[in-house]
Amino acid sequence: MLIVMKTNATEREVAAVIELVTSSGLRAHPVPGALRTAIGITGNQGAVDATHFENLAGVAEVIRVTKPYKLITLDLKPEKTIVRCGDATIGDGDLTIIAGPCAIENREQTFAIAERVKRSGAKFFRGGAFKPRTSPYAFQGLGEEGLQILREVRERFNLKIVTEALDDSSVDLVEKYADVIQIGARSMQNFTLLRRAGRSHLPVLLKRGLSATLDEWLLAAEYIMAEGNYNVILCERGIRTFTQHTRNTLDLAAIPAVRAVSHLPVIVDPSHGTGKSYMVGPLARAGVAVGADGLIIEVHNQPERALSDGAQSLTFEQYDQLIVEVRAIHEVIASVEAVAV
Ligand code: PEP
Ligand code: MN
Repeated sequence: MLIVMKTNATEREVAAVIELVTSSGLRAHPVPGALRTAIGITGNQGAVDATHFENLAGVAEVIRVTKPYKLITLDLKPEKTIVRCGDATIGDGDLTIIAGPCAIENREQTFAIAERVKRSGAKFFRGGAFKPRTSPYAFQGLGEEGLQILREVRERFNLKIVTEALDDSSVDLVEKYADVIQIGARSMQNFTLLRRAGRSHLPVLLKRGLSATLDEWLLAAEYIMAEGNYNVILCERGIRTFTQHTRNTLDLAAIPAVRAVSHLPVIVDPSHGTGKSYMVGPLARAGVAVGADGLIIEVHNQPERALSDGAQSLTFEQYDQLIVEVRAIHEVIASVEAVAV
């Protein structure tokens, strides 16, 4: 259920509604918007009796939610969510670039890449310290040592750090060293992990699962938000299909599909979405053209020697070229959208 307050509702009226929700054993999620505050209600097993709330002062409307999700919806919040990380943002209309290696391998490699990422104007640096690998014998990441290198990168280059957590204890560590918790495709339905991330003060970048439907992906975001963390960034990274020419099939239709139901920012990962470096540029350009809020890109100083995902990692030259192209496309898209409004 959603409670929409009148545009002129006072803070005291909002507080009284929250108090009634809470004392009924439910959880209130107040979301102030440009025009009005809406309050999402979670914690109920069946339908909540709307009549309890309809006549409270300041309440404009009580909406029964028929969709499986509540907090991610445009019904709750018609304005787009802007996720802020200090001076860096995702979802505010600029094109956010998150770039870096697949995995943190050593200090020298990480610094060489970070220097280049910084120079490109990107504000976020990516790199895994905990790597979810298909084979138990493949490089699993440096763990906390990798996070320490990432913290140094943050200090030296003033880049925000995006890095994956695989379980509750790695969330504790990511909170200590980084700025954004990445939940990987393989973890998208690890509900304990989603709940833990939902109790974090850090934003969460939520990758779409390898075979997740749109609803499953949005419900994973809902898990995080239901715990009180509203700073979720969705990331389309390709799904498993029968194609053999790519590692995954990048589902770019997911971007407008998300937009149609959710206020959350959504970014595209053309690296995992294709698995091949020569396809990353074209699909990154397409991702921006369909309206993504940003891109997450794998780049490496020596892709041929990378310990993971070398085949999809861009060289520095390819990366620099891609950034110029996607920024140009983003400007055109922004002006087209301005005309449409
Ligand atoms: C990654 O970003 O390196 C990664 C493992 O991504 P995904 O979870 O999308 O496979
Ligand atoms: Mn990778």
